Parts: sequence; C-alpha cells; structure tokens
Amino acid sequence: MSPQNEKDRVAWLRGPSAQCEAAPENDSTAWRLVLLGAPGVGKGTQADLLNQRLGACHLSTGDVFRAAGSQSECEQSPAMKEALGHMRRGALVPDATVWEMVRERIACLRCGGGFILDGFPRTLGQAESLQQLMDSEGLALTAVVNYELPTSEIVTRLGGRRTCEKCKAVFHVTERPPKIAGSCDRCDGKLFQREDDRPESIKVRLEAYERSTAPLIDFYGKAGLLVRVAATGSPDEIFEITLTDLKSRRARQLAN
Ligand code: ADP
Repeated sequence: MSPQNEKDRVAWLRGPSAQCEAAPENDSTAWRLVLLGAPGVGKGTQADLLNQRLGACHLSTGDVFRAAGSQSECEQSPAMKEALGHMRRGALVPDATVWEMVRERIACLRCGGGFILDGFPRTLGQAESLQQLMDSEGLALTAVVNYELPTSEIVTRLGGRRTCEKCKAVFHVTERPPKIAGSCDRCDGKLFQREDDRPESIKVRLEAYERSTAPLIDFYGKAGLLVRVAATGSPDEIFEITLTDLKSRRARQLAN
C-alpha cells in the first residue's frame, strides 16, 4: 500500500476527525466502483489489488465497524454499540446507522481519486441512498462488479480467513498464506480471525446476503452497471479478469 493510500484509509476509518493530507487532484479517469458478492467471496482481497493498480481508495464499511469495535466502550456512541452487536451475530447493521456513517465520510466519495466501495451498499435502501447522493453530487458509478461463487466454497474461504489487525490486509491459511504464519507480509502486524468468521455467524451472514444483498444484482443490472466475474481461481487470476472486464467496459463507454 502506498503512503498516499495509507493516509486515505485512515481518513475513511476514522471519519471526519481525520483528513486526507494529500488528496488527489480531480481525475477525469478516476474509477468509482462498487464490489458486490457474498461474504467470503474475496471482495476485500480484490479491492486491495484494484486499489494498488487503479489508485482509487478501498472503502470498506466492515473495516469502519471493526475499527470502532477496537475503541474503548466509552468512545463508542450508543448507535455504534448497537451496530457492533448486530455485526458480532453476523446480522446486518440497520440502514440508518450505516447511512449516517457513510454520510460522515462523504469526502471520501467526493474524492477526485475515485473509490472502491466494499460492503456498501448492502440493501436496496442503501443502494437508493447512494444513488441519490451521487446524483446530487453530479457523480456517477463507473461499474458494479459482482463476484460469484458457490456457497460450499464460500464457507471454506471464511473459515480460513485471517486479517491483519494493523493494516487490514487479508490472508488465507492455505490459499493466500502469509510468509510467516500469524504475521502480516506488509506491516508485520498480527493476523487474527474475525469474530463473525465463526460457523454460527457465517450462517447468519449468508442468509442476510441472500435476503438483502442479492437483490442488488438485479438493481445494478437494470442500471446497466453490472460486471459479472466468476470468483474461482487464484486472487491474481480473478483480479486480471476483473481488470480486463472493467477496461473493456470503459473502452466501450468511451467509444459510444
Ligand atoms: P463480509 O466479509 O461478511 O462481507 P464486511 O467486512 O463487509 O463483511 O462486514 C462485516 C459486518 O459489518 C457485516 O456482517 C455487517 O454486520 C456489518 N456491515 C458492514 N457493512 C454493512 C452495510 N453496508 N450494511 C449493514 N451492515 C453492514
């Protein structure tokens, strides 16, 4: 991760109290992406790879909640405490809380360098709110990537996932192991297993996905924004396919 992006991630994770010190200039070719897909499909990994190649910041709502979860209880607002309770069970956080949190970080959506949204929107209500906000800001999404994978493989992936407690990089014990077990390749931070990656929470998360998030595939399909990618193969292979599809989509848009 470049120093620039580390700063951007801090602004996203901390909210309005932190400012991006070197915000990129407005870039007419900036990417504004939404990543969709069931939990465990590899959105976070792909978002990191896309961030390194396309420069746009990786904005994960789950990371914001986890960062709030590592604060002391007295630093957490009542709404955030409630949100963390939902998250630990694997359930979705109520739309109003999520939307307030995203709105507080509106500077990251306005950013001239673009963005890669991961984990938001997750319900039709959130997608409609995002659409209204983008319209009122005169911005448009470049594309929405939907990563597709059978449920049995998703469960295996989630069980083996490990996350860096410092820089949030994502590894897998067998598929994407760190060079030194338990330690992050990028920053030497400690790797941990997320509370909501336990089997009982995984089941709730997959049900919430089917009920609330899967309908977004249709929503963005109708908007002509959907790019479908089979999330099988190595992270690098999936990434190359994503990039090829996104670039050919952009070339077609420019030709029209
Ligand atoms: P996953 O790897 O399951 O896709 P994330 O890291 O994106 O998970 O999010 C973890 C948890 O944070 C979710 O299970 C949910 O409780 C909460 N969360 C994150 N983003 C949202 C959102 N947009 N709407 C509701 N809940 C959310």
